[in-house]
Amino acid sequence: MGTPLMPYAVSAANSRGRRFHEPLPAYRSEFQRDRDRIVHSTAFRRLEYKTQVFVNHEGDHFRTRLTHSLEVAQIARGMARELGLNEDLTEAISLAHDLGHTPFGHAGQDALNERMAGFGGFEHNLQSLRIVDALEQHYASFDGLNLCFETREGILKHCPAETAARLGDLGERFLRHAQPSLEAQICNLADEVAYNNHDIDDGLRSGLLSLGQLEEVSLFERNRALVRNAHGAAEGQRLIHETVRRMINALVCDLVETTKSNIARCAPRTLDDVRQAGALVDFSGEMRDAQREMKQFLRKNLYQHHEVLRMTLKARRIVGDLFSAFIDDPRMLPPAYRSDSEQPRRVADYIAGMTDRYAMKEHRRLFAVGEI
Ligand code: MG
Repeated sequence: MGTPLMPYAVSAANSRGRRFHEPLPAYRSEFQRDRDRIVHSTAFRRLEYKTQVFVNHEGDHFRTRLTHSLEVAQIARGMARELGLNEDLTEAISLAHDLGHTPFGHAGQDALNERMAGFGGFEHNLQSLRIVDALEQHYASFDGLNLCFETREGILKHCPAETAARLGDLGERFLRHAQPSLEAQICNLADEVAYNNHDIDDGLRSGLLSLGQLEEVSLFERNRALVRNAHGAAEGQRLIHETVRRMINALVCDLVETTKSNIARCAPRTLDDVRQAGALVDFSGEMRDAQREMKQFLRKNLYQHHEVLRMTLKARRIVGDLFSAFIDDPRMLPPAYRSDSEQPRRVADYIAGMTDRYAMKEHRRLFAVGEI
């Protein structure tokens, strides 16, 4: 068993509960129930065919949003357990944090945001909240999943002030510059640890990055040297995996240690103390620099690699074309997405819900000459 739950952890006792009252679950905590609802949602199943950097059909060994979310959950849960925080809540937030992503990662989001410019824009993080609050329609008594406040708070990582103002209690912290729970803070950084490391791993696997290039990433170099010292002959996939696992471990250990000392210094006694304190879950200064260096490397060498840009531009065109086609003639939409009062938003919901492969298929169906 892990450390007992700290008094400033989120628990049934200090939770602000659900929007619609429901009887207590029989053999689960409220946060286990949230996690279960997320896993059973339609949006969660679609994560399997959505990607971050690579398009889903490019290879079976790259991360998808589903495997990324599982990695985030695994990292976040380990930290929560060590810090005496609510592990079930970190799992729920982690598994839900990317639900609102469009097909084709950020390229899809940018295209949708451009097309939605006159209609309130599009942002994946807000869309994740919209999915769990409204778009999932499985329950008889309410729209959405009726998740606990703390799960929804963790899903909403960032939010512009004008949006926060209309989100009521959930938006309050952005207006008052307060923090979310430690569990939410953990998920946020576990996300970074997961994607930086798996993008290096997938980048090498795809051949878009080379081991030689990674010499300029000090965290990688330091850990590659440790692998060479311990296992001189390791190369190829073993060398990469042994290095990446050490990087993840170094980042997580640094996060745990720095967070422990921040908590000791600030000495929160309640969840409210946590919300009023600055961000307590954090890297040491040195590790933050190393992490920044890794991010810059990935931006320059992977996210802006010409092969990736080619895919990105194509993805933007697919999403942009789909949006225009449905706005020009909403009769082509499935009936559930037609609306007299908010048609652009419903088109965005429809497109954002698509998987990579479904968006490509829809595009072919609508635009390929000779295909009816
Ligand atoms: Mg993520």
